[in-house]
Amino acid sequence: MEFDYDLFVIGGGSGGVRAARVAASETGAKVALAEESRMGGTCVIRGCVPKKLMVFASTYPGRVAEARDYGWNATLEGAFDWPKFRTALEAELDRLEGVYNRLLDGAGVTTYAQRAKIADPHTVELADGSRYTAKHILVATGGWPATPDIENADLAITSNEVFHLETLPQKMLIVGGGYIACEFAGIMNGLGVEVTQFYRGAQILRGFDEEARGHIADHMIRDGIRLHTGTNILRMQKAEGGGIEVVSTTGQTDIFDQVMFATGRAPNTKGIGLEEAGVALNRRGAIVVDGYSQTDVPSIYAIGDVTDRVQLTPVAIREAMAFVDTVFRGTPTAVDHKLIPSAVFTQPEFGTVGLTEEEARAQEEIEVYCTAFKPMQQSFVGREDRVLMKLIVSKATRVVLGCHIVAEGAGEMIQMAGIAIKMGATKEDFDRTVAVHPTVSEELVTMRVPTRTA
Ligand code: NDP
Repeated sequence: MEFDYDLFVIGGGSGGVRAARVAASETGAKVALAEESRMGGTCVIRGCVPKKLMVFASTYPGRVAEARDYGWNATLEGAFDWPKFRTALEAELDRLEGVYNRLLDGAGVTTYAQRAKIADPHTVELADGSRYTAKHILVATGGWPATPDIENADLAITSNEVFHLETLPQKMLIVGGGYIACEFAGIMNGLGVEVTQFYRGAQILRGFDEEARGHIADHMIRDGIRLHTGTNILRMQKAEGGGIEVVSTTGQTDIFDQVMFATGRAPNTKGIGLEEAGVALNRRGAIVVDGYSQTDVPSIYAIGDVTDRVQLTPVAIREAMAFVDTVFRGTPTAVDHKLIPSAVFTQPEFGTVGLTEEEARAQEEIEVYCTAFKPMQQSFVGREDRVLMKLIVSKATRVVLGCHIVAEGAGEMIQMAGIAIKMGATKEDFDRTVAVHPTVSEELVTMRVPTRTA
């Protein structure tokens, strides 16, 4: 059977763009891609990239204060110029979107700036009614912020809107205890916003190493974030004099200029013809795929957040590359989801790879090597900030099962440590690596005595 395209990709985020570009430019496939919003998807347009730029912006007051303590005659005058930053941010996102569009054009991918849905296992229908057939369809539609089902929830914003605010709020409530909530609590606090954070559980960053979670939470509180654990929104409504009145589950009432829900993200699977075509979805509405990202319908594949495996950009990109290898290069390649290093850009930053102490202990006997100390740069000026470095080691095999770092630059450090750990490095491999001195990360190779064994 003749098809219009070898591959039709739905969704122009990190995963979709990578698959389309590589399939077209490196395997000669005839490829089309449809994106209804802006090319680049969540990561580039409303996620990782603008978030990281906001993290940078938010750290300057702390740096200037530190510079003063080091002897500089430094001051920050006035409040943060949000409109100026936002204008520069929008220009940068336009630039990046242009780069993505040019990459696709250069690779020979035909792009459609429209919503697309699956009409049948080999046909995609665009919003204007046009239809195209494809030998393979790749769904890479990502996810979307999920908000709690409470009255007036639409008064709140999500991470989609936070980059476009007209003005920065003076007083903000952030709901959630995951990546986005904790990152934005730090960002907004650094930008001079009075931040309150509600988290329904006992400690933020559920699923991560407990000691690291506590360490980060203590810092956030010391930095001025009003963190309320065991707390959720009970009711919210417009306040009479302006703002949003919030009643918490602990019985407190307060008024905020802005409320932001960072309460998880749901896969974008509604209204795109998946179920009608026979594609199975799981209980969370994510597309069910096998190790090769293939759905129940052999011609339809899915990658990235829409499959709800690991919601991280580099993972979607890996899945895209494995998809191209499998389908267009004849090399079936399963994605390896084990030992993925990642960073949470909280303040302080958190880098992590492998098992938490709790997970490792449930699996086998372990040794824990852990140190918390004041880094040289901050201790010099009498600051209380401490970093945390932690290695989890298998007693039986000596393999390093996990590494958790809370420190400035932890994201950079964990990328490097992640290579060794992915290679199966043992504690003794770490020990025989000479330290780089004086650095924070040298502690990773100088912790000689286990802090505890279990
Ligand atoms: P997360 O799943 O990380 O966190 C969601 C948070 O919202 C949890 O604390 C959860 O609580 C809470 N929550 C869920 N439902 C409700 C509710 N109804 N009421 C109150 N609280 C609720 O999601 P995020 O939105 O923070 O981020 C989505 C994903 O995006 C992340 O999982 C991550 O994979 C990715 N991401 C990665 C980043 C990075 O790499 N640095 C940065 C940002 C996002 P509970 O713990 O009790 O379930």
